[in-house]
Amino acid sequence: MIKLEHIDKKYADHHALKDVSLTFPEHETTVIIGPSGSGKSTLLRAINLLEKPEMGQLHFDDLTVDFSQPISNKLRFAVRRKSGMVFQNWNLFPHLTVLENITEGPRVVLKQSKAAANQRAEELLALVGLPDTGQRYPNQLSGGQQQRISICRALAMNPEYLLLDEPTSALDPELEAQVLRVLKDLAQNKQSMIVVTHNMEFAELVADRIVFFEAGEAIYDGPSKTFFEHPSARVQEFLNAIS
Ligand code: ATP
Ligand code: MG
Repeated sequence: MIKLEHIDKKYADHHALKDVSLTFPEHETTVIIGPSGSGKSTLLRAINLLEKPEMGQLHFDDLTVDFSQPISNKLRFAVRRKSGMVFQNWNLFPHLTVLENITEGPRVVLKQSKAAANQRAEELLALVGLPDTGQRYPNQLSGGQQQRISICRALAMNPEYLLLDEPTSALDPELEAQVLRVLKDLAQNKQSMIVVTHNMEFAELVADRIVFFEAGEAIYDGPSKTFFEHPSARVQEFLNAIS
């Protein structure tokens, strides 16, 4: 389980996260939504230690990070091992084949044999509907295909949580649908996920929980059903504005 307590983050004079406390239950999909600049990416990046808040604690299963203290490399590595991050712009290595992109982490970090890593990569490629693409290079694939391969690359490390920051916002609708289908399958298989997205249809369909951010504060944190069926006035205003 991921638990954040009293997370506070400032960029110069901008207060990006204001005393945020949240829990992300295992085997559930939490979708984070909210206006641009509200702190969604900062929060996700803090969980993966790509951002260091000034205050607060991150509890990730048995690991605890106290952000007011320096973070040791050992702790950083242990925390990062537990989650796999997928960014808006799939950042595959252009000079490596699809198979090499997926197997690099498992081979170097998890010390898997080439045969075992390749086998797992082939399974993951089949899972995302891209069998037989292992020998291609990223620039021979569409954006949607590359993003699905980024998801394979993250999953190949067997993360407890998959963290996705607007994984489809750089894609046109048809390619977006391919990626969302993969995420829906993962959610159904109870992969623990935290997804930042502006796609409300997807959020309503897949989320177990919703976190709604505004100006650095989580102003809603609860079941998806309640969020959509009984929205507060502010949530309704947001939903109207983006639909
Ligand atoms: P979007 O939906 O546009 O991606 P977001 O909710 O992900 O927005 P964040 O990227 O978390 O928002 O940014 C929160 C606030 O912090 C914004 O006002 C942003 O301008 C500011 N910010 C983010 N990163 C930095 C940085 N490195 N330096 C200064 N300010 C930053
Ligand atoms: Mg963002």
